[in-house]
Amino acid sequence: MNCDNLTALVVHYLVFGSLPAVDKHLRPKFAYGKRIHDNCERRGHFDAGQYVEKWGDEGHRLGWCLYKMGCKGPETFHNCPTLRFNDGLSWPVMAGHGCVGCAEPGFMDTMAPFYRRLPAVPGFGVESTATKLGLKVLGVSAAVFGVHGIINLFRNRNVIGEVESEHLDNENRES
Ligand code: SF4
Repeated sequence: MNCDNLTALVVHYLVFGSLPAVDKHLRPKFAYGKRIHDNCERRGHFDAGQYVEKWGDEGHRLGWCLYKMGCKGPETFHNCPTLRFNDGLSWPVMAGHGCVGCAEPGFMDTMAPFYRRLPAVPGFGVESTATKLGLKVLGVSAAVFGVHGIINLFRNRNVIGEVESEHLDNENRES
Protein backbone atom coordinates (compact mmCIF):
# COMPACT_ATOMS: atom_id res chain seq x y z
CA MET A 1 0.00 0.00 0.00
CA ASN A 2 1.12 3.51 -0.83
CA CYS A 3 1.67 5.33 2.49
CA ASP A 4 -0.12 8.44 1.13
CA ASN A 5 -3.26 6.33 0.67
CA LEU A 6 -2.85 4.85 4.17
CA THR A 7 -2.48 8.35 5.63
CA ALA A 8 -5.56 9.55 3.71
CA LEU A 9 -7.55 6.59 5.09
CA VAL A 10 -6.55 7.35 8.68
CA VAL A 11 -7.22 11.08 8.28
CA HIS A 12 -10.64 10.33 6.76
CA TYR A 13 -11.52 8.22 9.79
CA LEU A 14 -10.27 10.86 12.23
CA VAL A 15 -12.14 13.69 10.50
CA PHE A 16 -15.43 11.97 9.62
CA GLY A 17 -15.54 9.20 12.21
CA SER A 18 -16.14 6.58 9.50
CA LEU A 19 -14.27 4.71 6.82
CA PRO A 20 -14.46 5.95 3.20
CA ALA A 21 -16.54 4.23 0.52
CA VAL A 22 -15.13 0.87 -0.52
CA ASP A 23 -15.33 -1.36 -3.60
CA LYS A 24 -16.38 -5.04 -3.74
CA HIS A 25 -12.98 -6.07 -2.40
CA LEU A 26 -13.37 -3.63 0.54
CA ARG A 27 -10.64 -1.35 -0.84
CA PRO A 28 -11.14 2.43 -0.47
CA LYS A 29 -12.53 3.76 -3.73
CA PHE A 30 -10.52 6.97 -3.64
CA ALA A 31 -7.40 4.82 -4.10
CA TYR A 32 -8.73 1.81 -6.04
CA GLY A 33 -11.69 3.26 -7.96
CA LYS A 34 -9.98 3.96 -11.28
CA ARG A 35 -8.16 1.75 -13.74
CA ILE A 36 -4.46 2.45 -14.13
CA HIS A 37 -4.80 2.21 -17.90
CA ASP A 38 -7.32 5.10 -17.94
CA ASN A 39 -4.98 7.52 -16.16
CA CYS A 40 -1.68 6.40 -17.62
CA GLU A 41 0.48 9.02 -19.34
CA ARG A 42 1.26 6.45 -22.08
CA ARG A 43 -2.41 5.91 -22.92
CA GLY A 44 -2.25 8.12 -26.02
CA HIS A 45 0.35 5.74 -27.44
CA PHE A 46 -1.84 2.73 -26.67
CA ASP A 47 -4.71 4.32 -28.61
CA ALA A 48 -2.39 5.32 -31.44
CA GLY A 49 -1.02 1.77 -31.77
CA GLN A 50 2.48 2.82 -30.69
CA TYR A 51 4.01 0.05 -28.61
CA VAL A 52 7.35 -0.87 -27.16
CA GLU A 53 8.28 -4.11 -28.95
CA LYS A 54 11.58 -4.76 -27.22
CA TRP A 55 13.31 -3.36 -24.14
CA GLY A 56 15.51 -0.48 -25.19
CA ASP A 57 14.03 -0.05 -28.67
CA GLU A 58 13.13 3.35 -30.11
CA GLY A 59 9.53 3.14 -28.83
CA HIS A 60 10.84 2.44 -25.34
CA ARG A 61 13.12 5.46 -25.49
CA LEU A 62 10.23 7.60 -26.76
CA GLY A 63 7.91 6.57 -23.91
CA TRP A 64 5.45 4.47 -25.93
CA CYS A 65 2.93 2.08 -24.44
CA LEU A 66 4.21 -0.99 -22.57
CA TYR A 67 1.20 -3.19 -23.27
CA LYS A 68 3.13 -5.62 -25.48
CA MET A 69 5.77 -5.92 -22.79
CA GLY A 70 3.19 -7.34 -20.40
CA CYS A 71 1.86 -4.20 -18.68
CA LYS A 72 -1.11 -5.13 -16.44
CA GLY A 73 -2.46 -1.56 -16.27
CA PRO A 74 -5.58 -2.45 -18.29
CA GLU A 75 -6.67 -4.88 -15.54
CA THR A 76 -5.44 -3.07 -12.44
CA PHE A 77 -7.29 -0.52 -10.33
CA HIS A 78 -5.18 1.91 -8.36
CA ASN A 79 -4.20 5.57 -8.27
CA CYS A 80 -0.48 5.00 -9.02
CA PRO A 81 -0.50 7.18 -12.18
CA THR A 82 -1.89 10.22 -10.35
CA LEU A 83 -0.38 9.76 -6.86
CA ARG A 84 2.92 8.15 -7.95
CA PHE A 85 5.65 7.10 -5.47
CA ASN A 86 8.36 8.96 -3.56
CA ASP A 87 6.48 12.24 -3.04
CA GLY A 88 5.00 12.12 -6.54
CA LEU A 89 8.38 11.71 -8.23
CA SER A 90 7.57 8.74 -10.46
CA TRP A 91 5.91 5.34 -10.74
CA PRO A 92 6.85 2.12 -12.59
CA VAL A 93 5.25 2.91 -15.96
CA MET A 94 6.68 6.42 -15.95
CA ALA A 95 10.10 4.89 -15.24
CA GLY A 96 9.75 2.56 -18.25
CA HIS A 97 8.49 -0.73 -16.78
CA GLY A 98 4.98 -2.10 -17.19
CA CYS A 99 2.55 -2.24 -14.27
CA VAL A 100 2.72 -5.69 -12.63
CA GLY A 101 -0.79 -5.45 -11.15
CA CYS A 102 0.32 -5.65 -7.52
CA ALA A 103 -2.85 -3.91 -6.29
CA GLU A 104 -5.18 -6.62 -7.55
CA PRO A 105 -6.56 -9.46 -5.42
CA GLY A 106 -4.67 -12.71 -5.87
CA PHE A 107 -1.45 -10.94 -6.87
CA MET A 108 0.96 -12.34 -7.94
CA ASP A 109 -0.59 -15.60 -9.06
CA THR A 110 -3.27 -13.79 -11.08
CA MET A 111 -0.80 -11.47 -12.81
CA ALA A 112 2.13 -13.78 -13.55
CA PRO A 113 4.02 -14.09 -15.77
CA PHE A 114 4.74 -10.38 -15.67
CA TYR A 115 6.01 -10.09 -19.22
CA ARG A 116 3.18 -11.89 -20.94
CA ARG A 117 0.86 -9.61 -22.89
CA LEU A 118 -2.73 -9.42 -21.60
CA PRO A 119 -5.16 -11.00 -24.05
CA ALA A 120 -8.03 -9.10 -25.67
CA VAL A 121 -7.78 -5.58 -24.21
CA PRO A 122 -10.53 -3.42 -25.75
CA GLY A 123 -9.38 -0.45 -27.83
CA PHE A 124 -6.03 -2.02 -28.80
CA GLY A 125 -4.51 0.52 -31.25
CA VAL A 126 -7.94 2.03 -31.81
CA GLU A 127 -6.68 5.22 -33.49
CA SER A 128 -4.25 3.46 -35.80
CA THR A 129 -7.09 1.13 -36.81
CA ALA A 130 -9.26 4.19 -37.46
CA THR A 131 -6.44 5.71 -39.49
CA LYS A 132 -6.08 2.56 -41.61
CA LEU A 133 -9.86 2.46 -42.07
CA GLY A 134 -9.82 6.15 -43.04
CA LEU A 135 -7.08 5.50 -45.61
CA LYS A 136 -9.10 2.63 -47.10
CA VAL A 137 -12.18 4.86 -47.33
CA LEU A 138 -10.00 7.56 -48.89
CA GLY A 139 -8.67 5.04 -51.42
CA VAL A 140 -12.18 3.90 -52.36
CA SER A 141 -13.33 7.54 -52.64
CA ALA A 142 -10.35 8.41 -54.84
CA ALA A 143 -11.15 5.42 -57.08
CA VAL A 144 -14.81 6.46 -57.33
CA PHE A 145 -13.89 10.06 -58.12
CA GLY A 146 -11.33 8.86 -60.65
CA VAL A 147 -13.90 6.72 -62.49
CA HIS A 148 -16.37 9.60 -62.31
CA GLY A 149 -13.77 11.96 -63.78
CA ILE A 150 -13.03 9.58 -66.68
CA ILE A 151 -16.73 9.18 -67.46
CA ASN A 152 -17.13 12.97 -67.47
CA LEU A 153 -14.12 13.30 -69.76
CA PHE A 154 -15.71 10.95 -72.31
CA ARG A 155 -19.04 12.72 -71.94
CA ASN A 156 -17.41 16.11 -72.50
CA ARG A 157 -15.58 14.78 -75.52
CA ASN A 158 -18.88 13.59 -76.99
CA VAL A 159 -20.49 16.95 -76.29
CA ILE A 160 -17.55 18.77 -77.93
CA GLY A 161 -17.78 16.43 -80.91
CA GLU A 162 -21.51 17.08 -81.25
CA VAL A 163 -21.00 20.87 -81.06
CA GLU A 164 -18.21 20.71 -83.64
CA SER A 165 -20.24 18.63 -86.10
CA GLU A 166 -23.25 20.93 -85.61
CA HIS A 167 -21.02 23.93 -86.30
CA LEU A 168 -19.66 22.27 -89.46
CA ASP A 169 -23.22 21.45 -90.65
CA ASN A 170 -24.18 25.11 -90.20
CA GLU A 171 -21.14 26.27 -92.15
CA ASN A 172 -21.90 23.82 -94.98
CA ARG A 173 -25.54 25.04 -95.17
CA GLU A 174 -24.47 28.71 -95.28
CA SER A 175 -21.84 28.13 -98.02
S1 SF4 B 1 -1.03 -0.71 -21.28
FE1 SF4 B 1 0.18 0.01 -19.52
S2 SF4 B 1 1.66 1.47 -20.39
FE2 SF4 B 1 0.05 1.16 -21.93
S3 SF4 B 1 -1.41 2.81 -21.52
FE3 SF4 B 1 -2.13 1.02 -20.39
S4 SF4 B 1 -1.27 1.24 -18.35
FE4 SF4 B 1 -0.12 2.61 -19.68
